[in-house]
Amino acid sequence: MLYIVPTPIGNLEDITLRALRILREADVVACEDTRTSGVLLQHYQIETSRTSFHAFNEAAKADHLIARIQRGETVALISDAGTPGISDPGFSLVRAAIQAGVSVEVLPGATAFVPALVASGLPSDRFVFEGFLPVKKGRQTRMKALVEESRTMVFYESPHRIQKTLDGFITLFGPDRPACVARELSKKFEEVVRGSLSSVRVHFSQEAKVRGEFVLIIGGKTG
Ligand code: SAM
Repeated sequence: MLYIVPTPIGNLEDITLRALRILREADVVACEDTRTSGVLLQHYQIETSRTSFHAFNEAAKADHLIARIQRGETVALISDAGTPGISDPGFSLVRAAIQAGVSVEVLPGATAFVPALVASGLPSDRFVFEGFLPVKKGRQTRMKALVEESRTMVFYESPHRIQKTLDGFITLFGPDRPACVARELSKKFEEVVRGSLSSVRVHFSQEAKVRGEFVLIIGGKTG
């Protein structure tokens, strides 16, 4: 059996009882970064052996993990934070498991975009998750493709690109489009900034060096 197990995006309490049990009972925990996950596992006194599963060994490692499951082992996949497969390694392993006829169970749990979307106060009945925009090639094309989008849009963004990204969307969508930036959710410096794209941009221009983890939410086109 392959279990996909969400882990906290900040606050270590944000993990389910079932996730802890699965991590404890699994034969091996496949981690995006064994040292990062070591902190969480140690915190909960989970001594299950760990192996790495990250963007650079995904394909080769997927076959190896599937073979272990086919021998009767239980593998639990976790990423550095949140739900594996959501802007994190996981997709290829789930697909390989399905193709190999191996059972996959995905536990519900922490992910950054859901609390950000709900906290934004923007319509959440229909939305589109865009994840990270391409860093260079294809970035403008991707952004322009959203000009007519009427659903609420959700992006992941890094601290050193958030201001530039806001500038780009102000140019494309206009300064008055409703937006929200959710920073450091569930952590000590959690902050949710709501307003127009331009007012949110002004908020961050007051910081010399922007830090933290960000989810950007932008209202869809209306009228
Ligand atoms: N798998 C994760 C999930 O389920 O949300 C996402 C992993 S992705 C590599 C990391 C990005 O998620 C960050 O750059 C940021 O955009 C977002 N993120 C993760 N933790 C966050 C937090 N505590 N507050 C705000 N955004 C966060």
